[in-house]
Amino acid sequence: MDAELTAAGAPDNDPGRIGIGLGMAAPTILRFGSDEQKQRWLRPLWTGEEVWCQLFSEPGAGSDLAALATRAVPDEEGGWVVDGQKVWTSSAHLARWAILIARTDPAVPKHRGISYFVCDMTDPGVEVRPLRQITGEAEFNEVFLTGVRIPDAHRLGGIGEGWKVAQTTLMNERVAIGGVRIPREGGMIGVAAEDWRARPDLRTHELHQRLLALWVESEVARLTGERLRQQLSQGQPGPEGSGMKLAFARLAQEISGWEVEFLAEDGLTYDDWTMRRPDGVDFTGREAGYRYLRAKGNSIEGGTSEVLLNIVAERVLGLPPEPRTDKDVAWKDLPR
Ligand SMILES: Cc1cc2nc3c(=O)[nH]c(=O)nc-3n(C[C@H](O)[C@H](O)[C@H](O)COP(=O)(O)OP(=O)(O)OC[C@H]3O[C@@H](n4cnc5c(N)ncnc54)[C@H](O)[C@@H]3O)c2cc1C
Repeated sequence: MDAELTAAGAPDNDPGRIGIGLGMAAPTILRFGSDEQKQRWLRPLWTGEEVWCQLFSEPGAGSDLAALATRAVPDEEGGWVVDGQKVWTSSAHLARWAILIARTDPAVPKHRGISYFVCDMTDPGVEVRPLRQITGEAEFNEVFLTGVRIPDAHRLGGIGEGWKVAQTTLMNERVAIGGVRIPREGGMIGVAAEDWRARPDLRTHELHQRLLALWVESEVARLTGERLRQQLSQGQPGPEGSGMKLAFARLAQEISGWEVEFLAEDGLTYDDWTMRRPDGVDFTGREAGYRYLRAKGNSIEGGTSEVLLNIVAERVLGLPPEPRTDKDVAWKDLPR
Protein backbone atom coordinates (compact mmCIF):
# COMPACT_ATOMS: atom_id res chain seq x y z
CA MET A 1 0.00 0.00 0.00
CA ASP A 2 2.86 2.36 0.86
CA ALA A 3 4.41 1.71 -2.55
CA GLU A 4 1.11 2.52 -4.30
CA LEU A 5 0.64 5.73 -2.29
CA THR A 6 4.21 6.83 -3.09
CA ALA A 7 3.70 6.05 -6.79
CA ALA A 8 0.54 8.19 -6.75
CA GLY A 9 2.54 11.11 -5.32
CA ALA A 10 0.93 11.07 -1.86
CA PRO A 11 2.97 12.49 1.03
CA ASP A 12 4.39 9.78 3.30
CA ASN A 13 3.88 9.57 7.05
CA ASP A 14 7.60 9.98 7.79
CA PRO A 15 8.14 6.29 8.57
CA GLY A 16 11.69 6.86 9.86
CA ARG A 17 10.35 9.07 12.65
CA ILE A 18 7.45 6.84 13.63
CA GLY A 19 9.09 3.43 13.14
CA ILE A 20 8.48 2.24 16.70
CA GLY A 21 4.83 3.20 16.53
CA LEU A 22 4.26 1.59 13.15
CA GLY A 23 6.46 -1.46 13.58
CA MET A 24 5.91 -2.33 17.23
CA ALA A 25 3.16 -0.44 19.05
CA ALA A 26 0.54 -0.70 16.28
CA PRO A 27 0.66 -4.50 15.80
CA THR A 28 0.57 -4.96 19.59
CA ILE A 29 -2.43 -2.64 20.00
CA LEU A 30 -4.16 -4.35 17.08
CA ARG A 31 -3.74 -7.74 18.71
CA PHE A 32 -4.33 -6.94 22.40
CA GLY A 33 -6.08 -3.55 22.49
CA SER A 34 -9.78 -2.99 23.20
CA ASP A 35 -11.88 -1.21 20.56
CA GLU A 36 -11.61 1.97 22.62
CA GLN A 37 -7.81 1.74 22.76
CA LYS A 38 -7.57 1.12 19.01
CA GLN A 39 -9.87 4.08 18.40
CA ARG A 40 -7.74 6.40 20.55
CA TRP A 41 -4.25 5.46 19.46
CA LEU A 42 -4.05 3.99 15.98
CA ARG A 43 -5.04 6.86 13.74
CA PRO A 44 -2.67 9.57 15.11
CA LEU A 45 0.04 6.91 15.23
CA TRP A 46 -0.38 6.13 11.55
CA THR A 47 -0.63 9.74 10.43
CA GLY A 48 2.57 10.53 12.32
CA GLU A 49 0.90 13.07 14.62
CA GLU A 50 1.90 11.04 17.68
CA VAL A 51 5.36 9.48 17.97
CA TRP A 52 5.80 6.33 20.10
CA CYS A 53 8.80 4.91 21.93
CA GLN A 54 9.55 1.60 23.63
CA LEU A 55 10.31 1.50 27.37
CA PHE A 56 11.56 -2.09 27.64
CA SER A 57 15.35 -2.29 28.26
CA GLU A 58 16.82 -1.43 31.66
CA PRO A 59 20.37 -1.16 32.97
CA GLY A 60 19.99 -4.69 34.44
CA ALA A 61 17.66 -6.17 31.82
CA GLY A 62 18.57 -6.22 28.11
CA SER A 63 18.88 -9.67 26.57
CA ASP A 64 17.42 -11.00 29.81
CA LEU A 65 14.50 -8.61 29.48
CA ALA A 66 12.20 -10.62 31.75
CA ALA A 67 14.48 -9.74 34.69
CA LEU A 68 13.28 -6.11 34.56
CA ALA A 69 12.90 -4.23 37.84
CA THR A 70 10.63 -1.24 37.04
CA ARG A 71 7.66 -1.61 39.39
CA ALA A 72 3.99 -0.86 38.75
CA VAL A 73 1.96 -0.78 41.97
CA PRO A 74 -1.85 -0.38 42.12
CA ASP A 75 -3.01 3.06 43.32
CA GLU A 76 -6.13 3.97 45.28
CA GLU A 77 -8.06 4.91 42.09
CA GLY A 78 -7.71 1.55 40.37
CA GLY A 79 -4.75 2.73 38.28
CA TRP A 80 -1.00 2.20 38.63
CA VAL A 81 2.03 4.06 39.96
CA VAL A 82 5.25 3.30 38.12
CA ASP A 83 8.83 3.76 39.37
CA GLY A 84 12.04 2.67 37.68
CA GLN A 85 14.69 3.36 35.06
CA LYS A 86 14.70 2.47 31.39
CA VAL A 87 17.60 2.81 28.99
CA TRP A 88 18.43 2.94 25.23
CA THR A 89 14.97 4.39 24.60
CA SER A 90 15.03 5.47 20.95
CA SER A 91 12.96 8.59 20.15
CA ALA A 92 11.88 9.11 23.79
CA HIS A 93 12.63 12.83 23.28
CA LEU A 94 10.07 12.99 20.46
CA ALA A 95 7.47 10.64 21.85
CA ARG A 96 3.97 11.33 23.09
CA TRP A 97 3.36 7.69 24.08
CA ALA A 98 5.44 4.72 25.17
CA ILE A 99 4.82 1.01 25.28
CA LEU A 100 6.07 0.02 28.71
CA ILE A 101 6.59 -3.25 30.55
CA ALA A 102 6.79 -3.23 34.34
CA ARG A 103 6.76 -5.71 37.20
CA THR A 104 3.38 -6.00 38.89
CA ASP A 105 4.13 -9.14 40.95
CA PRO A 106 7.66 -9.74 42.29
CA ALA A 107 6.60 -12.92 44.12
CA VAL A 108 6.21 -15.09 41.02
CA PRO A 109 8.85 -16.25 38.48
CA LYS A 110 10.14 -13.40 36.32
CA HIS A 111 8.14 -14.05 33.13
CA ARG A 112 4.83 -14.26 35.00
CA GLY A 113 4.88 -11.06 37.07
CA ILE A 114 5.05 -8.52 34.23
CA SER A 115 2.23 -6.33 32.85
CA TYR A 116 2.13 -4.22 29.71
CA PHE A 117 1.06 -0.56 29.69
CA VAL A 118 0.87 2.50 27.51
CA CYS A 119 2.62 5.38 29.25
CA ASP A 120 1.99 9.07 28.58
CA MET A 121 5.44 10.58 28.01
CA THR A 122 4.15 14.03 29.00
CA ASP A 123 3.41 12.85 32.58
CA PRO A 124 5.41 15.00 35.06
CA GLY A 125 7.13 11.88 36.50
CA VAL A 126 8.82 11.04 33.16
CA GLU A 127 12.35 12.42 32.76
CA VAL A 128 14.20 11.89 29.45
CA ARG A 129 17.99 12.31 29.30
CA PRO A 130 19.92 11.96 26.02
CA LEU A 131 22.59 9.27 25.55
CA ARG A 132 25.21 10.12 22.96
CA GLN A 133 26.25 7.32 20.61
CA ILE A 134 29.44 6.43 18.74
CA THR A 135 28.04 8.38 15.74
CA GLY A 136 27.83 11.59 17.79
CA GLU A 137 24.08 11.83 17.76
CA ALA A 138 21.68 10.83 20.52
CA GLU A 139 18.96 8.75 18.91
CA PHE A 140 18.27 7.21 22.25
CA ASN A 141 17.92 8.20 25.89
CA GLU A 142 17.71 7.02 29.42
CA VAL A 143 14.27 7.50 30.93
CA PHE A 144 13.59 7.87 34.63
CA LEU A 145 10.07 7.08 35.83
CA THR A 146 9.17 8.53 39.22
CA GLY A 147 5.65 8.10 40.56
CA VAL A 148 4.22 8.00 37.03
CA ARG A 149 0.43 7.53 37.08
CA ILE A 150 -1.03 5.18 34.48
CA PRO A 151 -4.79 4.56 34.32
CA ASP A 152 -5.80 0.90 34.19
CA ALA A 153 -7.51 1.69 30.86
CA HIS A 154 -3.96 1.99 29.46
CA ARG A 155 -3.09 -1.66 30.19
CA LEU A 156 -2.75 -4.01 27.19
CA GLY A 157 -3.50 -7.65 28.04
CA GLY A 158 -4.19 -9.14 31.47
CA ILE A 159 -2.38 -8.32 34.71
CA GLY A 160 0.70 -10.55 34.84
CA GLU A 161 0.36 -11.43 31.15
CA GLY A 162 2.65 -8.70 29.88
CA TRP A 163 5.37 -11.10 28.75
CA LYS A 164 3.03 -12.66 26.21
CA VAL A 165 2.08 -9.20 24.93
CA ALA A 166 5.76 -8.18 24.82
CA GLN A 167 6.55 -11.22 22.65
CA THR A 168 4.22 -9.83 20.00
CA THR A 169 6.07 -6.50 20.15
CA LEU A 170 9.50 -8.17 19.96
CA MET A 171 8.61 -10.48 17.08
CA ASN A 172 7.27 -7.50 15.16
CA GLU A 173 10.33 -5.44 16.10
CA ARG A 174 12.61 -7.96 14.41
CA VAL A 175 10.53 -7.87 11.27
CA ALA A 176 10.42 -4.05 11.42
CA ILE A 177 14.23 -3.86 11.63
CA GLY A 178 15.22 -6.79 9.42
CA GLY A 179 12.29 -7.14 7.07
CA VAL A 180 11.87 -3.63 5.69
CA ARG A 181 10.71 -3.83 2.10
CA ILE A 182 13.47 -2.47 -0.10
CA PRO A 183 13.54 -2.41 -3.89
CA ARG A 184 16.10 -4.47 -5.77
CA GLU A 185 19.46 -2.75 -5.29
CA GLY A 186 17.97 -0.48 -2.66
CA GLY A 187 19.10 0.22 0.90
CA MET A 188 22.72 -0.25 1.91
CA ILE A 189 23.76 -2.30 -1.16
CA GLY A 190 22.23 0.35 -3.44
CA VAL A 191 24.42 3.02 -1.85
CA ALA A 192 27.52 0.80 -2.21
CA ALA A 193 26.72 0.12 -5.88
CA GLU A 194 26.31 3.86 -6.51
CA ASP A 195 29.73 4.50 -4.94
CA TRP A 196 31.21 1.83 -7.22
CA ARG A 197 29.75 3.41 -10.33
CA ALA A 198 30.74 6.94 -9.33
CA ARG A 199 34.39 6.21 -8.51
CA PRO A 200 36.08 4.11 -11.22
CA ASP A 201 39.43 5.49 -9.98
CA LEU A 202 39.11 3.53 -6.73
CA ARG A 203 38.16 0.14 -8.17
CA THR A 204 40.22 -2.99 -7.52
CA HIS A 205 39.56 -6.57 -8.56
CA GLU A 206 39.34 -7.76 -4.97
CA LEU A 207 36.80 -5.08 -3.97
CA HIS A 208 34.77 -5.93 -7.08
CA GLN A 209 34.60 -9.59 -6.09
CA ARG A 210 33.50 -8.70 -2.57
CA LEU A 211 30.86 -6.24 -3.78
CA LEU A 212 29.38 -8.86 -6.10
CA ALA A 213 29.20 -11.41 -3.28
CA LEU A 214 27.48 -8.84 -1.03
CA TRP A 215 25.09 -7.92 -3.85
CA VAL A 216 24.07 -11.57 -4.22
CA GLU A 217 23.58 -11.96 -0.47
CA SER A 218 21.49 -8.77 -0.36
CA GLU A 219 19.32 -10.10 -3.15
CA VAL A 220 18.86 -13.40 -1.30
CA ALA A 221 17.91 -11.45 1.85
CA ARG A 222 15.48 -9.30 -0.14
CA LEU A 223 13.73 -12.33 -1.65
CA THR A 224 13.62 -14.08 1.74
CA GLY A 225 12.01 -10.91 3.11
CA GLU A 226 9.34 -11.08 0.40
CA ARG A 227 8.55 -14.65 1.44
CA LEU A 228 8.43 -13.66 5.09
CA ARG A 229 5.93 -10.91 4.30
CA GLN A 230 3.74 -13.40 2.46
CA GLN A 231 3.78 -15.58 5.58
CA LEU A 232 3.04 -12.53 7.73
CA SER A 233 -0.11 -11.75 5.82
CA GLN A 234 -1.40 -15.06 7.24
CA GLY A 235 -0.82 -14.03 10.88
CA GLN A 236 1.75 -12.96 13.46
CA PRO A 237 5.49 -13.23 12.71
CA GLY A 238 7.24 -16.27 14.09
CA PRO A 239 10.96 -16.93 14.76
CA GLU A 240 11.65 -16.45 11.03
CA GLY A 241 11.71 -12.70 11.72
CA SER A 242 14.71 -13.30 14.01
CA GLY A 243 16.53 -14.97 11.09
CA MET A 244 15.86 -11.94 8.87
CA LYS A 245 17.06 -9.51 11.50
CA LEU A 246 20.22 -11.58 12.01
CA ALA A 247 20.99 -11.55 8.28
CA PHE A 248 20.22 -7.83 7.99
CA ALA A 249 22.63 -6.91 10.83
CA ARG A 250 25.51 -8.94 9.37
CA LEU A 251 24.98 -7.56 5.86
CA ALA A 252 24.65 -3.95 7.06
CA GLN A 253 27.97 -4.25 8.90
CA GLU A 254 29.76 -5.97 6.01
CA ILE A 255 28.46 -3.60 3.32
CA SER A 256 29.21 -0.46 5.36
CA GLY A 257 32.70 -1.87 6.07
CA TRP A 258 33.19 -2.45 2.34
CA GLU A 259 32.10 1.12 1.61
CA VAL A 260 34.57 2.66 4.07
CA GLU A 261 37.36 0.55 2.59
CA PHE A 262 36.43 1.36 -1.01
CA LEU A 263 36.19 5.11 -0.46
CA ALA A 264 39.63 5.21 1.19
CA GLU A 265 40.18 8.57 2.96
CA ASP A 266 36.70 9.80 1.94
CA GLY A 267 35.32 6.88 3.92
CA LEU A 268 36.78 8.28 7.11
CA THR A 269 34.70 11.46 7.13
CA TYR A 270 31.27 11.43 8.71
CA ASP A 271 28.52 13.90 9.53
CA ASP A 272 28.32 14.53 13.20
CA TRP A 273 24.87 15.98 13.70
CA THR A 274 25.67 16.48 17.29
CA MET A 275 23.04 14.97 19.57
CA ARG A 276 19.92 15.22 17.43
CA ARG A 277 19.50 14.26 13.78
CA PRO A 278 17.79 16.86 11.56
CA ASP A 279 14.26 15.93 10.50
CA GLY A 280 13.82 14.08 7.24
CA VAL A 281 17.38 12.70 6.97
CA ASP A 282 17.89 8.95 6.72
CA PHE A 283 21.04 6.86 6.51
CA THR A 284 21.41 7.17 2.74
CA GLY A 285 21.82 10.94 2.99
CA ARG A 286 24.85 10.63 5.23
CA GLU A 287 28.54 9.97 4.90
CA ALA A 288 29.90 6.42 4.64
CA GLY A 289 31.64 6.79 8.01
CA TYR A 290 28.31 7.45 9.69
CA ARG A 291 26.77 4.31 8.14
CA TYR A 292 29.74 2.23 9.28
CA LEU A 293 29.49 3.44 12.88
CA ARG A 294 25.67 3.25 13.03
CA ALA A 295 25.64 -0.31 11.67
CA LYS A 296 27.48 -1.46 14.82
CA GLY A 297 24.19 -1.05 16.69
CA ASN A 298 22.30 -3.25 14.23
CA SER A 299 23.55 -6.43 15.88
CA ILE A 300 22.46 -5.14 19.33
CA GLU A 301 19.13 -3.33 18.86
CA GLY A 302 15.97 -5.44 18.81
CA GLY A 303 17.79 -8.46 20.26
CA THR A 304 21.53 -9.15 19.88
CA SER A 305 22.72 -11.49 17.14
CA GLU A 306 23.83 -14.03 19.75
CA VAL A 307 20.36 -14.09 21.33
CA LEU A 308 18.68 -14.34 17.90
CA LEU A 309 20.96 -17.30 17.07
CA ASN A 310 19.64 -18.97 20.24
CA ILE A 311 16.06 -18.33 19.08
CA VAL A 312 16.74 -19.78 15.63
CA ALA A 313 18.55 -22.77 17.18
CA GLU A 314 15.74 -23.56 19.61
CA ARG A 315 12.58 -22.59 17.76
CA VAL A 316 13.47 -23.17 14.11
CA LEU A 317 16.04 -25.97 14.24
CA GLY A 318 14.66 -27.64 17.40
CA LEU A 319 18.08 -27.90 19.10
CA PRO A 320 18.19 -28.45 22.88
CA PRO A 321 17.40 -25.23 24.82
CA GLU A 322 19.94 -23.32 26.92
CA PRO A 323 19.81 -24.34 30.60
CA ARG A 324 17.54 -21.87 32.44
CA THR A 325 18.02 -22.07 36.18
CA ASP A 326 15.74 -19.17 37.12
CA LYS A 327 12.56 -20.31 35.37
CA ASP A 328 10.73 -21.44 38.49
CA VAL A 329 12.23 -19.04 41.06
CA ALA A 330 10.26 -16.00 42.30
CA TRP A 331 11.72 -12.79 40.76
CA LYS A 332 12.30 -11.29 44.23
CA ASP A 333 14.56 -14.24 45.15
CA LEU A 334 16.80 -13.97 42.08
CA PRO A 335 20.35 -12.75 42.75
CA ARG A 336 20.86 -9.20 41.44
C1 LIG B 1 20.58 1.62 18.47
C2 LIG B 1 19.83 0.97 19.59
C3 LIG B 1 18.52 1.32 19.85
C4 LIG B 1 17.82 0.72 20.89
N1 LIG B 1 16.52 1.14 21.14
C5 LIG B 1 15.84 0.61 22.16
C6 LIG B 1 14.52 1.09 22.49
O1 LIG B 1 13.98 1.99 21.83
N2 LIG B 1 13.88 0.56 23.55
C7 LIG B 1 14.42 -0.41 24.31
O2 LIG B 1 13.76 -0.86 25.25
N3 LIG B 1 15.68 -0.89 24.06
C8 LIG B 1 16.40 -0.39 23.00
N4 LIG B 1 17.68 -0.85 22.73
C9 LIG B 1 18.28 -1.80 23.66
C10 LIG B 1 18.50 -3.20 23.10
O3 LIG B 1 17.29 -3.90 22.98
C11 LIG B 1 19.48 -3.92 24.06
O4 LIG B 1 20.72 -3.22 23.97
C12 LIG B 1 19.69 -5.37 23.70
O5 LIG B 1 18.53 -6.11 23.96
C13 LIG B 1 20.88 -5.99 24.46
O6 LIG B 1 20.79 -5.76 25.82
P1 LIG B 1 22.03 -5.16 26.64
O7 LIG B 1 22.51 -3.94 25.94
O8 LIG B 1 21.63 -5.04 28.07
O9 LIG B 1 23.19 -6.24 26.50
P2 LIG B 1 23.35 -7.59 27.35
O10 LIG B 1 22.06 -8.31 27.41
O11 LIG B 1 24.01 -7.26 28.65
O12 LIG B 1 24.33 -8.40 26.44
C14 LIG B 1 25.77 -8.25 26.49
C15 LIG B 1 26.39 -9.30 25.58
O13 LIG B 1 26.10 -10.64 26.08
C16 LIG B 1 25.51 -11.43 25.05
N5 LIG B 1 24.49 -12.34 25.61
C17 LIG B 1 23.53 -12.00 26.53
N6 LIG B 1 22.76 -13.09 26.80
C18 LIG B 1 23.22 -14.12 26.02
C19 LIG B 1 22.83 -15.47 25.84
N7 LIG B 1 21.79 -16.00 26.51
N8 LIG B 1 23.54 -16.22 24.94
C20 LIG B 1 24.60 -15.69 24.26
N9 LIG B 1 25.01 -14.41 24.39
C21 LIG B 1 24.33 -13.63 25.27
C22 LIG B 1 24.85 -10.43 24.10
O14 LIG B 1 24.71 -10.97 22.80
C23 LIG B 1 25.86 -9.28 24.14
O15 LIG B 1 26.91 -9.50 23.25
C24 LIG B 1 18.43 -0.26 21.70
C25 LIG B 1 19.76 -0.64 21.44
C26 LIG B 1 20.45 -0.04 20.41
C27 LIG B 1 21.88 -0.46 20.16
